Amino acid sequence: MSPSGTLRRRPIGSTGSRAEKEDDYESGIQVIDENKEFTPNMSKFLSIQGLLAAGFNYHLVAVFGSQSTGKSTLLNHLFGTSFTVMNEKARKQTTKGIWMSRAEGEDGSASNILVMDVEGTDGRERGEDQDFERKSALFALATSEVMIVNIWEHQVGLYQGANMGLLKTVFEVNLQLFQKNQTTSQRSLLFFVIRDHVGHTPIKSLAELLLADLDRIWSSLTKPAGLENSQISDFFDFEFAALPHKILQAEKFEEETKILRKRFREVGSEEELVSGNSSIKSGTGPLGNDGAVFLPAYHRRIPADGFPMYAEGIWSQIITNKDLDLPTQQELLAQYRCDEISSICMQKFDMQMAPFEESSRAGKGVLSGLGPVMKSARKECLSEFEESAGRYYKPVFKRKREELIAKIDGRLKALVVLQLSELHKRAVKDFEDEVVQVLKLGKGLANGSADGSVSYDFKTIVDTARDTALSAFMDEAEEVVLAPEENSSWAGYETEELNAVKKDMDVVAARLRVEEMKRLVTRLERTLKLKLGEGIALEFSKMAMKDSDLGDGKGLWDGIWKIFQKEITEGVKVFKKKADGFNAGEEEIKVGIWRLKRRGWSILKTKVDEEVGGGNLLLKLRENFEDRFRYDEAGVPRVWKPSDDIESYYTRAREATVKLIPLVSEIKLTSTSAPPPLTDFIGPVPADAHLNGDDDAAAPFPSPDEFLILSEAKQVELTTRFKRTADALYVEAKRSTISSVAS
Ligand code: GDP
Ligand code: MG
Repeated sequence: MSPSGTLRRRPIGSTGSRAEKEDDYESGIQVIDENKEFTPNMSKFLSIQGLLAAGFNYHLVAVFGSQSTGKSTLLNHLFGTSFTVMNEKARKQTTKGIWMSRAEGEDGSASNILVMDVEGTDGRERGEDQDFERKSALFALATSEVMIVNIWEHQVGLYQGANMGLLKTVFEVNLQLFQKNQTTSQRSLLFFVIRDHVGHTPIKSLAELLLADLDRIWSSLTKPAGLENSQISDFFDFEFAALPHKILQAEKFEEETKILRKRFREVGSEEELVSGNSSIKSGTGPLGNDGAVFLPAYHRRIPADGFPMYAEGIWSQIITNKDLDLPTQQELLAQYRCDEISSICMQKFDMQMAPFEESSRAGKGVLSGLGPVMKSARKECLSEFEESAGRYYKPVFKRKREELIAKIDGRLKALVVLQLSELHKRAVKDFEDEVVQVLKLGKGLANGSADGSVSYDFKTIVDTARDTALSAFMDEAEEVVLAPEENSSWAGYETEELNAVKKDMDVVAARLRVEEMKRLVTRLERTLKLKLGEGIALEFSKMAMKDSDLGDGKGLWDGIWKIFQKEITEGVKVFKKKADGFNAGEEEIKVGIWRLKRRGWSILKTKVDEEVGGGNLLLKLRENFEDRFRYDEAGVPRVWKPSDDIESYYTRAREATVKLIPLVSEIKLTSTSAPPPLTDFIGPVPADAHLNGDDDAAAPFPSPDEFLILSEAKQVELTTRFKRTADALYVEAKRSTISSVAS
C-alpha cells in the first residue's frame, strides 16, 4: 500500500507532545495554527513521511464534531495517530487549529492515509469560534475524501443539536464549493460514528433517524441557481457505525474500534469508480462492513506533490472569505506545478545540451555525438514531465506539455540546423578533397607519359567520392533529425539539405573538371611543344641547303603548316579520348579543343621567333650562301683559281640567298601565296571560353600582323648584315687565289 518501503514508522500509541517538531513531524503537523496561519512546512512534512512522490496514491480523512466528544481519541484508535486528547482531570482547552498526521497501517506499519483533526471550541458558543468551525469544515471538504462525523448517541434525533448546526454548515459550504463544478461528480463520504452507543436502539434505526434529519436540513437550505432540485445524495454518500462507551465498556470499545480500524484501511479500486458504485451506504450496523471507505470517486485528484500548494491556496481563499472555486484552484495549481516540473525537466535537459550549445556557439563545426544525446535528453525530459505533471488538470498539462515540446524543439532546432549546415560543408569538402587526392595519385602514375595520357576516369572518381560523402552525410543527418511523428514540422529537413549538398557538389565537380581539363590541355601542350619544336627546327635547318625544294625557302611555311596541322590533329585526338572519361559536356570539349589549338599556334610562333631571332636567321642565310658560293653542283668545295670568275659566282649566290629574306618574313603558303587558313583551322572562340576566365579568349585573334615574322625595317637590316657577311666570304675567296698564285 505504501508507495515506497521507506516510510518512517512512528511510535505506536505514543500520545506525543503536540509541539510540532521541526525536524521530523513525527507527531504530525499543525496545518493551521491558532492564528489561522497555514504552515509553510507541509511539503517537508510529506517528504519526511515519504508521501510527496505518491502521486494519487494517498488518502485524506478529516473529522467533525463538537468539542470534547472524543474525536481525537477516536482518530488515535482508528489510525494509530497521537493527536492530543483532553486530559480528564485538567479539562484544559487544547490548541486550536487543524492538525495532520500520517496514519499507521492496520498492522502498525506506515500507511498512505493522512488524517486531519480539527480542534475547535464548542459550537454552541457564539462568535469567532463558530466562524473557525465553518472555515475548517470548508477546508476539510475541499481537501478530504472522507469526513468522520462524531456524534453522541443521545444527540441523534435532536435536530436542534450542535452537530446538526455543523452539518448544516457542511452542506451549505458544499453547495457553495461545487456549484461551479457541476459537471464533475465530486462526491464525499460522511462517515457517522455514533458514540456511547448503549445498544438499545439498533444502528439501523439511528441511521434512519439521522438520514431523516439530514434530509430536513438539506431541504431547509437555500440552494444556488442550477442546484434547486439537487438531492443530498447527489453530493454525499453516508456510512454509519456505532461505538460503545469508552470508559464504561472499555473492552467492547477496543473490540469495535479494531473492526472499524480495519474498514478504514480498505481502499476502493478504480473499477468501482467506473461502475459508479457509490450510492448511499446506509449502514448495516456497527459491525457492518459494506466495502471500502476510500473510493476513487471521493479522491480529490490532487497529486501529493501539489497538495501543499493546493491546500494553502484553498485556505487563503477561505480565510479571505472569497468564493471557493475548486476548478480554478485546480487549474492554478496545475499551472504552477506544471511550470515547476517543466523547469526541473529543463534543467536536466540544459545540462545535457549545454556542452553542445557551447561548442556550436564557438563554431566548432560538426558536433559529434549530438544525435543520440539530444534525442535521449528530449525523451527523458518529456517522459519525466509526463510522469509528474500528467496527474494535474489535463487541459493545463496538455498545454504545458506543448509549451515544453516547443521550447525543447526550439533549442534543438537551432543546433540541428547548424549541424546540418556543418555536415553539408564537411560533405562538400570531403568530396572535393577525395577527388583531388585521387586525381593527384592518378597524375603521379601518369607522370612521364609523353602524350599526357592518364590512366584514370574522372567521372568514376567523382561518382565514387560523391557516393561516399553523401552517404556519410545522410547517416549523420538522420541522427539529428526527429521523426515526423515527434515533430512534423521538421519532416524532410535532411533531404532538403541533401539536395543542397548535391547541388554544391555538382558545382565543385564542374569546377574540378574544368581545372582537370585545363591540366590535360597543358600536358598535351607540353607534348605539342616538343614535337612542333623538332619539326620547325628541321624545316629551318633545310634552309641551309641550296638544292632541296625547301632550300630556296619556297616551301618553308608549307612544311611548318603541315607539321602544325598534323600535331594538332594528333593532340585533339588524344584530348577527345580523355574528355570522354570526364563526362564533359559538348561545350567543354569544344573549349578544350579550341584552347589546345590556340596554344599550339602560340607554341609555333614562339619556336619560329626562336629560329629567326638572335642572329639565328643570319647564320642560316650565311650557310645557305656558303652552300651556293663555296660548293659546286656536286657539293664539292670549290678551290678558286685566278681564272675563275669569282665575282659572278658571288653575285648569283648572294642574290639567290637574299631572295629568301622576304619569304621567311611572312607566313604564306606557296599554293595560295596567302597566310594559312588559321582561323578556319582553329575555329571561333567558344562562348564558354570567356566564362572559364580564359586569357586567350580575351585577346583579339588573329592579330593584324599575326603572320608577319620580320618587319620591312628588319628585313632591310638583315639584308645589309647578310651582305656584309657575304662580302667577307667573297674577299676571303679572292685572297685565297692571290695567296695560291704567290705561293
Ligand atoms: P475531542 O475534543 O473531541 O478531540 O475529545 P478528546 O478525544 O480530547 O476527548 C475528550 C474527553 O472525552 C477525554 O477526557 C476522553 O477521555 C473522553 N472520551 C474519549 N472517548 C470517549 C467515549 O467514547 N465516551 C466518553 N464518554 N468519553 C470519551
Ligand atoms: Mg481533539
